[in-house]
Amino acid sequence: MNSPAIPSVAMPTIWSERHRGHATDGGYWLGIHLPGDEEPERGDALRAHLAAAGSPIVDTPDLGLAPVLAVHDERFVDCLRRAYPEWVAAGHADDPGQPLVVPYVFASTGFTARARRERPPVTIRAEIGLYATDTLTLLGDGTFDAACAAVHTAVHAAQLVADGVPAAYAAVRPPGHHAGPAYFGGACYFNNAAAAAQQLRERGVSQVAIVDIDAHQGNGTQEIFWNRGDVLYGSVHIDPAAGWYPHFVGYSDEVGDGPGRGATLNVPVPAGTGDDQWLAALTKICDAVRAHASAALVVSLGVDAAVDDPNSPLLITAAGFRDAGRMLGELRMPTVFVQEGGYDMATFATLVCEVLHGFEETHGK
Ligand SMILES: [Zn+2]
Repeated sequence: MNSPAIPSVAMPTIWSERHRGHATDGGYWLGIHLPGDEEPERGDALRAHLAAAGSPIVDTPDLGLAPVLAVHDERFVDCLRRAYPEWVAAGHADDPGQPLVVPYVFASTGFTARARRERPPVTIRAEIGLYATDTLTLLGDGTFDAACAAVHTAVHAAQLVADGVPAAYAAVRPPGHHAGPAYFGGACYFNNAAAAAQQLRERGVSQVAIVDIDAHQGNGTQEIFWNRGDVLYGSVHIDPAAGWYPHFVGYSDEVGDGPGRGATLNVPVPAGTGDDQWLAALTKICDAVRAHASAALVVSLGVDAAVDDPNSPLLITAAGFRDAGRMLGELRMPTVFVQEGGYDMATFATLVCEVLHGFEETHGK
């Protein structure tokens, strides 16, 4: 089979080798172990495609914990830091024979109504349940470091854009938009796009917009900025009412609260949605970005809405992704692209290049 041609990309790709440390080979879905679809070969495919597209590859510096803590709860971050070593120290690799951190109790609000924050569970196998939202998102030896490196990569892309680079692409994994202020799940540990937006704010950008074109709603990003008017969150995604992740949220009546009221925009689309309807939804979001008077843009760039992607029922073509890139370019804003989902190994990295190429066709013109 001929692989599709890779469109050219001029903007820099920010990249960290540290992503390879996160290799959990899947997780448990309905109690059954599923093989991984968010594994190191995704990151390597992104790097190879972007290099072939002509994008200069820029290494990510180590930025420490500060940019992670800028958008996440300190106890949550510390728990993820300790989780794997404490799991090993507890002997769970032998008893019961599980080398990865797998949550088994979950802190649902009713169950933990009487729990006190200063008295967390004393075992890691229970403590992780304060923050885990599913059994698909496991932690291994290098997961915490890789998740930090993904934040660093997105934040370094934001730093370059704050310094005057017109646009940059953060080729990160694990993805981030399902990670909330104090929870992880949906293959996400820390919220890379939120950290990039926060970095832009800290660098003096008064208003930032995040546009999320991943097939799934970015519930974590929505939650982090729910009460804030300075960061707009707009998402087009598969309708949760159709039975798709993140199930509980992503409805159009979720609009933010307090000073953030009106700065969250959810545009769910039905299963089977193709290019025209999807791009019409994206037009609505771009109109909201213009109305918000944002001075910089972060794009949560998932391409799992693709027709060939197994993880969504949306039917977006390569031409649709290029048109989405053109629409984002027409906003003519300094832009940070942050990788989210995309799981069809034969096409997903090329579709990323389609978006970035389309963006460069209109941005600055
Ligand atoms: Zn997704």
